[in-house]
Parts: sequence; C-alpha cells; structure tokens
Amino acid sequence: MSAVYLDFNATAPVRPEAKAALNAVLDRVGNPSSVHAAGRAARADLEKAREAVAALVGVVPGSVTFTSGGTEASALAIESAVAAKVDRILLGATEHDAVWEAAHVAGLPVEIWPVDADGVADLAWLEDALARPGRALVCLMLANNETGVIQPVAEAGETVRAADGWLHVDAVQAAGKIAIDFSSLQADTLSLSAHKIGGPQGVGALIAGTRATLARRQHGGGQERGRRAGTENLPGIAAFGAAAREALAGLEDVARQAVWRDALSTRVKSAGAVVLGENARRLPQTLCIACEGWSSETQVMVMDLAGVMISAGAACSSGKVKPSRTVEAMGRPDLAPCSIRISGGWPSTQADWIRAGDVWLEAQARRRPKIKEVA
Ligand code: PLP
Repeated sequence: MSAVYLDFNATAPVRPEAKAALNAVLDRVGNPSSVHAAGRAARADLEKAREAVAALVGVVPGSVTFTSGGTEASALAIESAVAAKVDRILLGATEHDAVWEAAHVAGLPVEIWPVDADGVADLAWLEDALARPGRALVCLMLANNETGVIQPVAEAGETVRAADGWLHVDAVQAAGKIAIDFSSLQADTLSLSAHKIGGPQGVGALIAGTRATLARRQHGGGQERGRRAGTENLPGIAAFGAAAREALAGLEDVARQAVWRDALSTRVKSAGAVVLGENARRLPQTLCIACEGWSSETQVMVMDLAGVMISAGAACSSGKVKPSRTVEAMGRPDLAPCSIRISGGWPSTQADWIRAGDVWLEAQARRRPKIKEVA
C-alpha cells in the first residue's frame, strides 16, 4: 500500500505547474536587474510572479516584497513596525514561532493576547489593551498551523486601525486554503510562504498596505525597491507565482475536504479523542486531536510505521517534539504533549483521510487493553 501524506501544514508537495515554472527559469539565463534582453525576460518572469502572488490576496503587485519565506516576511514586518516607532507589541497567544520569537527580540514590551478554549483571540481584551497608552504593533495570525482555527482578523483590524496601531497578520497557513482579501482584513502587513501552497521551500512574501513603510532588512543593491537587497531567487519566485495561481483556482477543492476531515473527526472522537478548536471556524483541511496520556511522538511514530505521515501538534524545526504552546494557551496543558495534527492539501483524497482514521483507530484499540491492564 502506498504511503499517505497528510502533513500539508508542514509543507506541501510541489505542484507540477510550479516545477514547470522553476525549470523554465533555470533553462534560461538572466538577472532581473540586467538591462539586456535576457535581463528584461527575467524581470518579466519576476513581475508575472508578483502579479500572481498579489492576486492570491487581492492586492496590487506593488504591495508584494519577496523574501526567503514566511519567517523572514514576519521578521521584516516586525522590524518595520519597530522602525515606524510602535511602543509595544500585543502578541497572539497561539502565534507561530516565526512571529513569537521575532516579537520577543524586538526590544519592546510584549503582552500576550489570550485565546478562549477553542483557540479564538479575545476581542474584548484587545479593545482594553489598545486603550492603554502607547502605539501598538498587534500580531494576529489568520489561521493557526496546529488547529487550523481562523482568527477574527477583520474585526481586530478595525479596532487596531481606530487606535492607530499596526496589524501584522501571519497568513502562511491560511493562504491557498481559504480566500484572503487583504483590504477587508484591515491589516498593515501580511506574510505568505510558497511551500505551504505547493511552491518550493525558501520563498515567501510580505504584503504591505499603504499605511506601512517597510524597513530595509538587508543592505546592498536596490532589489525589491531597496527593501531586500540581493539578486532575487527567480526560480523559486517564478514557482511561487505558479503555485499561487493554482492555489487560488483550487480553493473550492480544498474546501470540500472539510467533509472528509469531519468524518475522521467523528470516528476518532468516538474512540476517546478530543478535537481541538472544534467549535471555532477552522481551515477545511486541518484536524488537531489529542488523547490524554498518549504522547504526540508515539502517535506520530505509530502512524508513520503504518505508512501515514502526520505531525505532532507542535513539531519544532529541530525535529524534536515539544508540548504545544497553542494547546496550552487554549487551557489544556494536560493535552499539550499529546496533540497531533492531520492536514490535507491539493492532491489529498477521501481514501487518504479514511486510511489515517483506520490506522489511528487500530493503534488506539491496541493501546486501550494495555491501559485497562495497568489500571
Ligand atoms: N507561520 C506559520 C503559521 C507557519 O506555519 C510557518 C511554517 O511552518 C511559518 C510561519 C514559517 O514559514 P517558512 O517556513 O516559510 O519560514
């Protein structure tokens, strides 16, 4: 039986259209900064990709700055807000490390913005926090990487704007899974990553609205309007553009996975699993479950041995599993070391989701008699 990959929130397989775009660039020569014909062709590839990424989130191409990924995009946003003289940071309790760590090293006071039991940010807390003195950078992700919980970003955006704050939105997980309209979110900056939507790893973008002035993150040449010096990663960017085009066209297909995800959810719940963020609006292809006393690591291993690749709720970049900060913030520290994430994507099938359920349920059934014996 062939292996099942349901770890799209970690990274997605590269789409054929993205591979074709990448190879087409590699087959030619040309630096987008050169003025000769080859350079102009490379520039055209770069700007075509910029248009496609812009279209994914409903902005004009000039709002897009290419980076090395979602992490760098968020770092650029946070550094830019600091350079624009914000006084403090209000940081969502379930933010990804990319934003969490960058906010903590920004040299400003950081207040953690709590979430409810379903992982949804508390808007009343935000209003109170913004009423306190000092211009704030507010960081709120659009969708959580572990639970798929979608945050009330547009509502938060209105409040942040009224208080003259800066709203940064990490949309790395939401892109390609739900429709995103940058202007209706009322955000100042928004980060994207190619490898979550079927592009290559190591490419991303920061979207900046008209109120945001971006800092110079990297000094040198004038690439990306001086915001990020260095010859552009044109093969990666071209592939990102192609992936963005496909992701936008495929939103409805991803939405249909909610039915398969919910069927799996029902099955695992009947065997004792807790579904995290169950009552919140969530990405259609993400399921985060936990079983008290059954470690994330063991669950991931058992499923991997049976040919199903998923991840621990919070898989850190070193490959080690650490308890999920997201699950802790949701008031379930007991479940934080026991959560796993199953996430599908553009080529996933109903059979993949069923197989994941079969394997998990078999493992759970093997484990339960042992628990009874111990008891
Ligand atoms: N933000 C979120 C929510 C993510 O899930 C990830 C990747 O896991 C990142 C940011 C980092 O993106 P990148 O790997 O492109 O740096």
